[in-house]
Amino acid sequence: DSESKLQLVHRHIRQFPDFPKKGILFRDICPILKDPAALTAVIDLFEEHARKNYKQVDLVIGLDARGFLFGPLLAQRLGVGFVLVRKKGKLPGATVSVAYDLEYGTAEAEIQEDAVAPGQKVLLIDDLLATGGTLFAACELMRKQQAEVLGCMVIIELKELNGSDKLKPHSVFSLLQY
Ligand code: AMP
Repeated sequence: DSESKLQLVHRHIRQFPDFPKKGILFRDICPILKDPAALTAVIDLFEEHARKNYKQVDLVIGLDARGFLFGPLLAQRLGVGFVLVRKKGKLPGATVSVAYDLEYGTAEAEIQEDAVAPGQKVLLIDDLLATGGTLFAACELMRKQQAEVLGCMVIIELKELNGSDKLKPHSVFSLLQY
């Protein structure tokens, strides 16, 4: 059932203090990928949520880089396509980009201009929600492309950073909250 799947996922997340810098507790999802049962549990839970809450999904949109690990698996389950949102400079052809703030400096999220059509209903996926800056930028890209964001999905949500407030009115579905 869902509860035992959540426990399985929980047991496959490791904590690394002071990575990549002092004061950050890094949540490492690599053990999930090493265990087929844990990976299946993640995708089962995402699929269950998507089928229950959204009548129609046209595309799954994955965020650079760990959103690329889970997004295509979910997209296959739902029988829809997968699209990449990448850090600037990685995608060929015409692109659309949005700048966003990092703790120090700024970054840019980019998508191929023809990747999403106006009116398409999309689900955004990443491994972890912290401040929400990254998913917010991806939502901005979707707005620019006139796509409809159904919701955001992550494995882990860091509650104290209030990322879900930043993403409003879009909803965030997380498997685990810390
Ligand atoms: P944010 O834009 O602040 O929501 O940060 C989210 C992005 O940074 C995600 O793509 C995460 O993979 C990564 N990230 C931020 N904080 C952590 C953390 N404590 N552990 C692991 N990854 C993190």
